[in-house]
Amino acid sequence: MKKLALHWKIIIGMVLGVLFALLMINFEWGAQFVKDWIKPFGTIFINSLKLIAIPLILAALIKGITDLKDISSLSKMGSRTIITYVLTTVIAVSIGLIVVNLVKPGETITEETRNELVEAYAADAAAKKEANMEQQNKGPLQPLVDLVPDNIFEAARSNSNMLQVIFFAVFFGISLILIPEEKGKPVKDFFDGVNDVILKMVDLIMLAAPYGVFALLAALVVESPSADLFAALAMYALSVIGGLLIMVIIYVSAVRLFTKRSPKFFLNGISPAQLLAFSTSSSAATLPVTMERVTEHLGVDEDVASFVLPVGATINMDGTSLYQAVAALFIAQAFGIDLTFGTQLGIIATATLASIGSAAVPGAGMVMLVGVLGYAGIPEAGLALIFAVDRPLDMCRTVINVTGDASVSMLVAKSQNKLHEPKPKEWDDNFDAV
Ligand code: ASP
Repeated sequence: MKKLALHWKIIIGMVLGVLFALLMINFEWGAQFVKDWIKPFGTIFINSLKLIAIPLILAALIKGITDLKDISSLSKMGSRTIITYVLTTVIAVSIGLIVVNLVKPGETITEETRNELVEAYAADAAAKKEANMEQQNKGPLQPLVDLVPDNIFEAARSNSNMLQVIFFAVFFGISLILIPEEKGKPVKDFFDGVNDVILKMVDLIMLAAPYGVFALLAALVVESPSADLFAALAMYALSVIGGLLIMVIIYVSAVRLFTKRSPKFFLNGISPAQLLAFSTSSSAATLPVTMERVTEHLGVDEDVASFVLPVGATINMDGTSLYQAVAALFIAQAFGIDLTFGTQLGIIATATLASIGSAAVPGAGMVMLVGVLGYAGIPEAGLALIFAVDRPLDMCRTVINVTGDASVSMLVAKSQNKLHEPKPKEWDDNFDAV
């Protein structure tokens, strides 16, 4: 029987999910049926991915660090990774700013539309604002304090505390390198094995991916508010998507330039992770798959991927930062606020930090956007304007977040001489065949 590549199966699942939902909403009972009987399977699918995210980060990072064997290679790789991540994020925000300044989507909005939307979504905007106020009330050094958990199990309990888990894993890994080899070896072997087990779990979960995304997209369609297509919102959405596409071009060009791998090779290798990012809107939920694709299909050495990807899923969100820049300017334009060049430069810094601080879960980028708006003196009520189209844009920006991590992992691997011909593990064959 002819094998169908995984990404095709996922695409078919997505398309059928949307079509099924569009069919169902014609029946009075259809939407409820999808919510009661289809959506739970999507939730189970996402949950099963999230379930393995924390153990994967722990095992992968500890393994990744101990594979480096000494602190100097760790700091070399660590600094390269962080510098490249910050650089790509700054590029992303700048592209967002250029696109939104050229297209000026906010200037097409009518007074009437604005009032209507502000009213309709005021409650949601208030909720988001409150969430962020809590964050802001804690003082300037709170992010630093939040980095260090007082209890690792507590930190691992919620998927939004990834940075704390990363902190623990890096600390643990470094300490493991520092103890005598004969004591450290069994611990290292243990995490090595756990890492493989988890990647195997990813394979098994991915067998259900086409059905999972079917359920996720069907639920999304029946739950989304009937979107009146306002011209301004469409222009805004297109500006974000245009900017994101430019980022893809930058990634594939960088990969081509520095690693000599073709765009087709890169995109083919990473596409199942991209499709999953699109369906789940969560880089954290996608992380296990990103890891599997990058190591087994793009040829990045495991010890590079195990470090670069978990860190990237948490702090490198190019799609999110680009979106935040476009959204902030769109709202400013809609409210008729002129932002100076200096303020726009400040947006580069705040959006970079806001994207680093965004949790890798659905909608997080919009919550952190409040910080950018606050900095630039843009009314937060403007969130109401963009709320209606946020979910689809979240899906798209998450794809870019994941693609950015994958491309940086290739660049870092190349610079460390740790990029090789991909060789899928044996179980991959039967995995792809299903
Ligand atoms: N959903 C995004 C992610 O997980 C974060 C965001 O809301 O921009 O990567």
